[in-house]
Amino acid sequence: MVENTESESRKLLGRLREAMAGDDAGQARLDKITQLIADSMGTEVCSIYLFRDEETLELCATEGLNRESVHQTRMRVGEGLVGRVARTGKVINTPDAPSARGFRYMPETGEERFSSFLGIPIQRLGEMMGVLVVQSKETREYSSDAVYALEVVAMVIAEMTELGAFVGEGSAMSPLHQQSVILKGITAQEGAAEGNIWLHEPRVVVTNPIADDPHRELERLQEAVDELRVGVDKMLQVSGADKEQAQVLETYRMFANSKGWMRRMEEDIARGLSAEAAVEKEQSLARGRMAQVQDAYLRERLSDLDDLSNRLLRILTGQGKDTGAELPENPILVARNIGPAELLEYGRKLKGIVLEEGSVGSHAAIVARALAIPLVVRAARITTEGLNGDHVLVDGDQGVVHLRPDDPVVSAFRDKIAMQAQAQERYASIRDKPAITSDGQRINLVMNAGLMADLPSLDNSGAEGVGLFRTELQFLVRNKMPKRSELVALYQRVLEAAHGKRVVFRTLDIGSDKVLPYMKPQDEPNPALGWRAIRVGLDKPGVMRMQLQALIRAANGGPLTVMFPFVAQFEEYRLAREEVNKTIEREKRLGHILPSSLEVGAMLETPSLGFAPLKFFEEVDFLSIGGNDLKQFFFAADRENERVRKRYDTLNVSFLSFIERIVERCDISGTPLSFCGEDAGRPIEAVCLAAMGIRTLSMRPASIGPVKSLLMRVDLGELRKIISDARHRGDQTVRPAVMQYLRGL
Ligand code: PEP
Ligand code: MG
Repeated sequence: MVENTESESRKLLGRLREAMAGDDAGQARLDKITQLIADSMGTEVCSIYLFRDEETLELCATEGLNRESVHQTRMRVGEGLVGRVARTGKVINTPDAPSARGFRYMPETGEERFSSFLGIPIQRLGEMMGVLVVQSKETREYSSDAVYALEVVAMVIAEMTELGAFVGEGSAMSPLHQQSVILKGITAQEGAAEGNIWLHEPRVVVTNPIADDPHRELERLQEAVDELRVGVDKMLQVSGADKEQAQVLETYRMFANSKGWMRRMEEDIARGLSAEAAVEKEQSLARGRMAQVQDAYLRERLSDLDDLSNRLLRILTGQGKDTGAELPENPILVARNIGPAELLEYGRKLKGIVLEEGSVGSHAAIVARALAIPLVVRAARITTEGLNGDHVLVDGDQGVVHLRPDDPVVSAFRDKIAMQAQAQERYASIRDKPAITSDGQRINLVMNAGLMADLPSLDNSGAEGVGLFRTELQFLVRNKMPKRSELVALYQRVLEAAHGKRVVFRTLDIGSDKVLPYMKPQDEPNPALGWRAIRVGLDKPGVMRMQLQALIRAANGGPLTVMFPFVAQFEEYRLAREEVNKTIEREKRLGHILPSSLEVGAMLETPSLGFAPLKFFEEVDFLSIGGNDLKQFFFAADRENERVRKRYDTLNVSFLSFIERIVERCDISGTPLSFCGEDAGRPIEAVCLAAMGIRTLSMRPASIGPVKSLLMRVDLGELRKIISDARHRGDQTVRPAVMQYLRGL
């Protein structure tokens, strides 16, 4: 039976290839394909529907339905059986279409005469491109072998569509990769950038999906897999001691030796596909599955498989990373995803970044922020739509990407960039001035940092110091635990760059969204509420001690400021402080020079700490409100969850009342207080926090200009009264009242 289908589909593919090799172009070529499929399958109808736009499918060719309906009949995704195949990506095989769920009768096609229906998705690497349909009068369910043969054909059609094989005469299809497209993603770093696409992973194009010598193709596949295995084994030997990396490579090796993976590809080749098309078919399947699985571990493995398929395709096609192409002018990096280390390698050369996956809290986003490069994440289809060198506009403020934009869009966008440049000039002119409000209140503006790439901002942003140095970023961008001596050198560089300005080093804040690649992940149902930050530090103090030692040594007899993250109760602070004292004693015994002064503070990130005994406020040297976490726990709304993230306003009266309470308690105990969450860098939120009594705001360097500029114009006393009136009126948020005041300035 399989023998039979193998030769069936090989025959069909062989005829398809002949059709492609002929002189026909555009519509004629598409028509010919439907004819020969109908003929080979012994069905009355074969039709090809392709996407007209994201939401609409169009009948592009048919054998058996009314010819007049070609390019006339359209349907929305999800509509009718064809629309359902396009939406779900799943085959529909029914002997009685008119009574199947969702059947939609389209009189212009005359299809009511047909009973059986087989709809196959046309997709390439997980991207839906259209639907291939066969129908017949006879009530029959198509055999699984017939389904398989058509799936292979659908894949070849997808490849041909990508290659532009149906473009041209008869305007069957407009060429791909030429129209302007707007892609909506999510903002991960604000800013606007114009430039040209640089694909991080160059697209591999399969130009020969069909092959007529399966033996030769099997040999090619085998040779490529052997080369891949040797490559993976070599990487394993080189990586030697690095256990975690070795585990990833082991997974690769497992796939590379996996019988199931190989067998499926061999079967595809036996049925007429070329070696590279067989690999790509497997990759498509893996991507389809990846979109559906929730389990993080399984997703990782599927993504390993995706990576492995890419390597194999590069070996087979000879296309790859080293294509010799040069980074274009004003490069905009486009990738499905990218790791922090790879992104750092590109560094400030990039004008913008667009990722198909990724998240606001991802490591790549952290790096992009440090480099102040506009970043849009979750921009679906960017890697399939965009080609190397394509003109692109990245609107990091709106989370929108304009690919191959039209002239009016380009000129509007350039106006926006020019306005931003003007604003930057304004900010530069006040850079060295103190932030003093119109009623004479002095606000201390400091910056958040964590990477070496942040350090130049200490001078050029006007920051008065570093209010939050996220030490975990250095741990996150590496693939193994840094050594103590490396940390000493690193912290020394930070202190040198600060030229005596105060730097608040926060000890490791790992867990939750910050998982070190070389540490065993905890299987926790609720990681944000789990074993993280100071909880890890106190339970397993080895790394914390090493870090404290490195900080003391880096201070080299100068002042040192340390802050513990995520302190939820007094006792945790006491224990952490004891660790600091013990480390100081140990360093003294070892003969190291001790810091001239030492401040040990805590981050207030859980509501509980706001209600800690006054004694805590007296003992702690300073407090910094970590608004990102505090807000997520105050409103019980995940900071990473797009659905709920923006649901509760920072200017909500309940949250401001809580901030007010913290300020009052700090005033009583004389505890210095700052705010270092993202809201400190948003001008409207920042002036309200200042009005509530916060005198130190720590933010991204790029936010210092805009925040200072607004602070210098407001009267905090007046603003405080406006906020207070709004609260007494019972407003849910003080934002409208504050906005009205600001508009009147
Ligand atoms: C915060 O929670 O507000 C904070 C500054 O820390 P992080 O964003 O690193 O969790
Ligand atoms: Mg935090």
